[in-house]
Amino acid sequence: MKHLREYKHPLLILLLFETVAVTLWLAKDNIFYLLNFSYIGFSIALGIFLFIKRYEYARRIVQLLVGLYMLVYLGLICRENMQIEGFWYYLFSGVFEAATIHYAVAKIFGPLVFGRGWCGYACWTAMVLDFLPFKVPERPRRRIGWIRYVTFVLSLVFVSGLFFSRAENLENIIFWAFIAGNIFYYAVGIVLAYLFRDNRAFCKYICPVTVFLKPMSYYSLLRVTCDREKCISCGKCRKICPMDVDVTDNSRSRKNGTECILCMECVRNCPKKAL
Ligand code: SF4
Ligand code: SF4
Ligand code: SF4
Repeated sequence: MKHLREYKHPLLILLLFETVAVTLWLAKDNIFYLLNFSYIGFSIALGIFLFIKRYEYARRIVQLLVGLYMLVYLGLICRENMQIEGFWYYLFSGVFEAATIHYAVAKIFGPLVFGRGWCGYACWTAMVLDFLPFKVPERPRRRIGWIRYVTFVLSLVFVSGLFFSRAENLENIIFWAFIAGNIFYYAVGIVLAYLFRDNRAFCKYICPVTVFLKPMSYYSLLRVTCDREKCISCGKCRKICPMDVDVTDNSRSRKNGTECILCMECVRNCPKKAL
């Protein structure tokens, strides 16, 4: 019973993903969904288990397991564009497959439960950016977050343009857009990280997916909260946070609250175990 309580979070995540896996398998009559969501659920549950066991690289392991699977297997081998252009493409085609399901689960409705867990544990862009040396931002945040709306609109205009112009070989164009888009994201992400001395600069200012992620994660069930009785206001959690979240404020409107990627660095580093 004690073990069950201790490991309730990985078990709950496993259960949540298995429910999605079985539901989609039966609804779509396609065993791929069972294998796909079981693998992702198992990887995340393993990460949480390792975190409970205080293994330092728990999050990074999940990021590599899920990120590489999505980028290499689903993206390059199965030729599924899981980027935002892929989402628009399948949405406009009226197909509830691949990227539309992925967006619905990980980036639109999922964040109501697990916030921006996608950004901390699964995104293949951040999987690479997190290897860079600026894990803790060295400079204050800039007021250029509006760029994300520009990239969001550009992705929409790009795919709408393809549909309106009745471009041929759409599948092929969308696949190559996935390759080009990823190269572009990695290049911009790495340059910005060095320029702003912040690994997550791309996530903070450029990523179009945050237009979905931020408002949905505002209502997230899963969030880090602070026990004000234990907190000594040392400021360590704010200093160490890669996303500049004021985690000592428990309100939903806390500073940069919708930026939390649930990396748990604040929890691990709080000297009073107040988080
Ligand atoms: S903000 Fe965008 S690039 Fe960054 S982790 Fe989230 S989805 Fe990936
Ligand atoms: S690190 Fe812990 S004790 Fe220090 S301010 Fe943050 S929550 Fe409070
Ligand atoms: S350090 Fe804490 S507040 Fe900051 S992103 Fe990670 S979990 Fe969220």
